[in-house]
Amino acid sequence: MAEPAKKLPRIEISERRCKACSICVDFCPTNVLEIRGTTCVVKDLEACTRCQLCDLRCPDFAIRVFD
Ligand code: SF4
Ligand code: SF4
Repeated sequence: MAEPAKKLPRIEISERRCKACSICVDFCPTNVLEIRGTTCVVKDLEACTRCQLCDLRCPDFAIRVFD
């Protein structure tokens, strides 16, 4: 029988607020995020453990993680 689809978290990034400082990228323990141009982007959502470190550490309230 097929495994039920894993429910992924939702990560919202405000391009307007993000200044591409890379703090969230550096704190993420599972390498979910990366800087692309002038903003942070999600590169591997499946690796997200919902630890919220990015959300807590962003000085500009630009990234939020929803379960
Ligand atoms: S919640 Fe944790 S694992 Fe997910 S992107 Fe943020 S720092 Fe990385
Ligand atoms: S910590 Fe915040 S401002 Fe810095 S790159 Fe991440 S989302 Fe953007």
